Amino acid sequence: MPKLYLGLGSNLGDKKQNITNATIICGSLLGDIVSLSSLYETKPWGFESDSTFLNAAICIETNHSPHVCLEMTKAIEREMGRTQKSSDGVYHDRIIDIDILFYADEIVKTEELTVPHPLLAERDFVLKPLAEIAPDLVHPEKKVSVNEMLKNLEKKL
Ligand code: AMP
Repeated sequence: MPKLYLGLGSNLGDKKQNITNATIICGSLLGDIVSLSSLYETKPWGFESDSTFLNAAICIETNHSPHVCLEMTKAIEREMGRTQKSSDGVYHDRIIDIDILFYADEIVKTEELTVPHPLLAERDFVLKPLAEIAPDLVHPEKKVSVNEMLKNLEKKL
């Protein structure tokens, strides 16, 4: 079964509970959770806010296509009370953010969905939790592992 890697983030309300709830709902709707990272406290990226984020990564074995997974993760975000989406690089505080990081070794490029996630290699809050559960996962286009992407990013920071 394909392995779906999701990045989760929250910087509003009970952040730990929000990540836990999102993890449980993702597991029940998308498939079996096969790994789960620890929680990482990170600074907001791309916008100013007083609230730090908690981030985590999870891996789910799923029967659903990448687009169905996106529809489900968006529905979970809505259901959990997220109101504002990011658009044109404008970001906001959010109860929950769920990003599709990888879907097996598939490359998807449509208007609604890009996989692997296009900003993956620039975001340490994504790569750190992901490196905990999938250090050797190789980016199908860049041909480098998650661990290598994290090391490359840390050299730049
Ligand atoms: P967000 O940053 O969660 O507000 O997402 C904004 C939009 O990015 C969503 O409406 C998705 O259609 C789109 N998107 C494109 N690629 C991805 C991806 N890999 N994971 C999640 N959302 C994506």
